Parts: sequence; structure tokens; C-alpha cells
Amino acid sequence: MTATRRIGLIGGMSWESTALYYRLLNEGVRDRLGGHHSADLVLRSVDFAEIVAQQQAGDWAGAGAVLGDAARGLEAAGAEILLICTNTMHKVARDVADASAVPLLHVVDVVATAAQERGVSTVGLLATSYTMEDLFYAERLAMHKINTVVPDQGDRDLVHKIIFDELVQGVFTDESRQAMISVMARLCEKGVGGVVLGCTEIELLLSDGDVDLPLFPTTALHCAAALDLALSQA
Ligand code: GLU
Repeated sequence: MTATRRIGLIGGMSWESTALYYRLLNEGVRDRLGGHHSADLVLRSVDFAEIVAQQQAGDWAGAGAVLGDAARGLEAAGAEILLICTNTMHKVARDVADASAVPLLHVVDVVATAAQERGVSTVGLLATSYTMEDLFYAERLAMHKINTVVPDQGDRDLVHKIIFDELVQGVFTDESRQAMISVMARLCEKGVGGVVLGCTEIELLLSDGDVDLPLFPTTALHCAAALDLALSQA
């Protein structure tokens, strides 16, 4: 007998990657359970423009309040596991966790487990500037004994610009793919053993084989870990 727990998604940041979460969770349930099974989930998709404005204004408390409100709504809708479908907004993970009694599956813990399984102790991080320059991500990885290396300032600015000007708006170009690959090559020179695709849209642009290093695609890893939790043998 398979017991499933309802997954609550705090998404829309951007909806491009939230759509990938939706697809991967449903494909994962189909692969694991077969037949007509599909994911039991609830989604609260916010207006990303409001969140972007709060990020730019440095109003993280305000953004935390919006996402905390989303968490309460998902709890009321029966969610039993919560996922924040963006790496950046894990900056306010504490606000989300405090807003409801539903356990939050933190993306950094999932990434750390994946790195440990591959025997990687130093990772490069490709993400928004908020994620690369604030310490919330690297410090949580360090709690799992994983070291983080970020690109140089110019490369950080480039990656951030590609994310906000293109990826979250559904624009995927070969030029930007090549630019990201060059950034990863420079990270490689800094001695990293793998690269965290620490923005949920980056894996829509890059794939395994683009570089000769283990990649850690956070959306796919987050979904797989959510399914491990949601589908348990009773
Ligand atoms: N989806 C992205 C991430 O994983 C960036 C969008 C955002 O700022 O939330 O960080």
C-alpha cells in the first residue's frame, strides 16, 4: 500500500521553473507508481513582479511575509510538505517555516546530500547575485561540510543578468548557454568538484554533458527529494 503526502509548492518565481517542478513531480509519480497515478499537490503561484520589486528594494521582510502567507494558504489546502520553488527566496526560508506547521524541504539540504553522494566537497555556485553574494546559501552548505566557490564579480553580474533578463522571461539562447559554460570553465579553474545550478531556471538552459563536471540541477533534485518524502511505503 502506498501512502502519499500532499506537496505544497510556493511557486511563480518564475513560473518558467514552476512549470518544470509541476512536470517533474508528475513524471516522477508516474515513473514510481505507474498506471494513472499523478502528483497530489497544491500550488500557490505568486506574481513574480511583486517579488522582484521587493528583491530590488531589499525588502526581504516584505517578501518573507508574502511567502509566509502563501505557506499558510497551502497548509489550509492540505499540504503536508512545503517547497519554495526558487533558490533565491530561501533567503526567507525562516519566515516560511515559521508561518505554518508544515515541514519545509529546504533546497540547500537537498543539494548538500546530492554533493555528498557524489563525493564532492567543494561546489561552484551559479545563481542570482542575491544567492551568490549573500551568505545564506553558502553557510547552509557549510553546515553540511560543503565549501562554496562563487564566480568573480564580472561573471556574477553576467549570470544574474542572464537569469533576470532572459531565463525567468522564457528566453533561452545559445549565446547565453555558451556564456554560462565559459563561467563554469572559469569556476573549474578555481578547483571546484561540481557546479550547483543554484537558480531553478538554469537547468532549462544547461544540461549534463555541457561541462566535464558533475552538475547539481536544483529543480530536479528538489523534486526527487520531495517525491522520496511524499511517497512512502505504509
Ligand atoms: N528562480 C530563481 C532562483 O532559483 C531566481 C528567481 C528569484 O529571484 O526567485 O533563484
